[in-house]
Amino acid sequence: MLADQYDAFLFDLDGVLIVGDYPVDGAVDALARLRERGTPIRFVTNNSRSTRQALCEHLRDLDIEANVEEMYTAASATAAHLADMRSESVYVLGGDGFAAEMARQGVKRTDATHGIDGAGVVTADAVAVGLDRTVTYDKLAAATRLISDHGAAFVAANNDNAYPTAEGIAPGTGALVAALRTATGREPTIIGKPHPELFEQALSGLEGDVAMVGDSLESDIRGAQRAGIPGIHVTAHARTENEGPTPDATIDTPYGLFNAET
Ligand SMILES: [Mg+2]
Repeated sequence: MLADQYDAFLFDLDGVLIVGDYPVDGAVDALARLRERGTPIRFVTNNSRSTRQALCEHLRDLDIEANVEEMYTAASATAAHLADMRSESVYVLGGDGFAAEMARQGVKRTDATHGIDGAGVVTADAVAVGLDRTVTYDKLAAATRLISDHGAAFVAANNDNAYPTAEGIAPGTGALVAALRTATGREPTIIGKPHPELFEQALSGLEGDVAMVGDSLESDIRGAQRAGIPGIHVTAHARTENEGPTPDATIDTPYGLFNAET
């Protein structure tokens, strides 16, 4: 069984362990069994809106044990990247959770919510883009000018196009990234899956053979393989993707890690 083949596991959250306000079938029991065995677990999500603490509390509400130091999010990884860059000030497009992760890692942000023209000239040496559900034209204009005219670094938490909500599909972080990419002609540094940085942060400190468990071929499986680890595809809630890399293993639910034949 797969649980015996690896020393540690990285788990995506949405579509693998949780769907909305519910756990995925088999997720609670699979994680409990891995905990009993003492198998190290990391949670790896492209979420750029929530604090790590809030995501852990959500998992614990669903009877999945989770600790902040095991949680790696696009928001926390972007904040770590900016802290490593020693940015003096960062102009942030994003929500409260994104801002809280920046603050926790000592990243100084410019708190201007207006454009950079006029009386209050905004300066920043980096622009960080997460999911900003209160984005305005003025914010996009300020970010564009900082990147184009002032040489600010362009860093994005992820490049996800869209995401489902109770009301229907909604633009993701990638939609904001696309606006800035079009306006500036510059390519961002993207931190989240399938790019390597979030994986590298999550893998640091883990020893032995590690596998990623995810529902997205493009994000989880491609990202894992690019990072040099196998990707195990969970299909119960996977969106149909026409193309993508071939997973190293395929299971129906997370409990498939304990199927005798895999
Ligand atoms: Mg997912």
